Amino acid sequence: MTDAALTVTRLRDAFDAGRTKPLAWRTAQLTALRALLVDHSADLEQALFDDLHKNADEARLTEIDIVVAEIDHALGHLREWLLPKRSPVPLLIAPATARIVREPLGVVLIIAPWNYPVQLLLDPLVGALAAGNSVVLKPSELAPATSATLARLVGKHLDPDAVAVIEGGADATTELLEQRLDHIFFTGGERVGRIVARAAAEQLTPVTLELGGKSPVWIDDTVDLHVAAKRIAWGKFMNAGQTCVAPDYILTTPALAPRLIEAVAQAIHGFYGDDPAVSHSYGRIVSDSQFDRLVALLPESGPDGEPTGGAVLGGRHHRATRYLEPTILSGVSLDDEIMQNEIFGPILPIVEVRDLDEAILVIRSRPKPLALYAFTESEEARRRILEDTSSGAVSFGAPSAHLSVAGLPFGGVGTSGMGAYHGERGLLTFSHEKAVLSKPLHPDTLRIAYPPFTRGKDAFVRSVLGRLR
Ligand code: NAD
Repeated sequence: MTDAALTVTRLRDAFDAGRTKPLAWRTAQLTALRALLVDHSADLEQALFDDLHKNADEARLTEIDIVVAEIDHALGHLREWLLPKRSPVPLLIAPATARIVREPLGVVLIIAPWNYPVQLLLDPLVGALAAGNSVVLKPSELAPATSATLARLVGKHLDPDAVAVIEGGADATTELLEQRLDHIFFTGGERVGRIVARAAAEQLTPVTLELGGKSPVWIDDTVDLHVAAKRIAWGKFMNAGQTCVAPDYILTTPALAPRLIEAVAQAIHGFYGDDPAVSHSYGRIVSDSQFDRLVALLPESGPDGEPTGGAVLGGRHHRATRYLEPTILSGVSLDDEIMQNEIFGPILPIVEVRDLDEAILVIRSRPKPLALYAFTESEEARRRILEDTSSGAVSFGAPSAHLSVAGLPFGGVGTSGMGAYHGERGLLTFSHEKAVLSKPLHPDTLRIAYPPFTRGKDAFVRSVLGRLR
């Protein structure tokens, strides 16, 4: 048997033995996960620095603390979430009771990407444990220090019979996908998302796909440009632009574009100083291949890394350290290469459109984004954006912040993903809502539904039940 097969068998045995179902086990695991994060925060911060040059404050804010908050929310609500929900029954089957019971699915697989390698592996784990499942975790091989640290810590802190980490890349994941699983939760890109969905279809395994895409920003002249520019720069250049919900591109009018570019440039300077290459707050690109992909998106660059053409601000880069300066591209056309795929790096194109009508047309003509951001004080513009476009989320005035709200489902729509999690939605993703009906045999009121269908029954059903319904 392969590693994957042995692990899944061990986890299934624990699930079948009922080990993961008691509320006490679930709360103990969530509490242990919380302790892992708090007590070993320094180890995780170091690993995130090694993999992504992630600043320790940013690591806590955008990875560790987010999962701790998710755990606290789950621990505070778990008992109430697991209460059976009563449902009224129709007169025809009364007396009876109906309720919905949330039961765990079994053995679930969580596959994570490299960009927020702690948050995106452990946040879904909170929902999976709260729901009472056995869990296989597959961290990303492209964040190797974080993957190794998590494998070590999870093995030490969580129940080894019910929670396992399998490290590795495509081969390890392929082996896992061949196992009988009860749910697959995948965060990553569209290409691998299709591979996962295909493998899941073979065994009719339910799947959640947390994918990416191009998340647009609309900004008009009703807003405080300087604060808006800071928010955009913060969301875009955090983790060197490698954030699934980062603003991908900006749509604005030709009149506002020059002032906006100046304001975003000022914000970048305020965040990272004269030379972001020496800022301890600025990250690095995860791998050489990602770096090469991003540099190819810049308008021609010379051998010294200085851009030689195109309307560009920033753009300096250094392959040995995988440094790519926060970059703004102006006057970008929808046909340009950079507008064809998710950028996933610190390059911010500005696309000029006539007005909001044209911006909405642009958004609607493209795949549905994971997030859509708007900076406008106009109620009418906000209403139109909400009603006339579709996206995983809409946020007015603050990119990325919606994912910290436990009560908001986090997920995509169309090619940005299917399914959602966070808070109670996370528990539901990893649960089956079982319908339970209970009707006493006496009195046998169902006899009015038994054949033969006589006139008397017909009259009763039409008159009495019809009126009471
Ligand atoms: P990816 O799709 O390349 O990899 C994700 C996971 O799939 C990794 O664990 C990897 O080991 C595994 N994998 C890679 N090749 C595989 C194969 N052939 N078969 C099976 N498994 C395979 O994604 P990534 O590059 O790690 O992350 C970037 C993408 O993730 C971006 O598109 C981004 O938008 C998206 N993303 C989405 C979210 C979200 O919450 N919706 C969050 C972060 C990233």
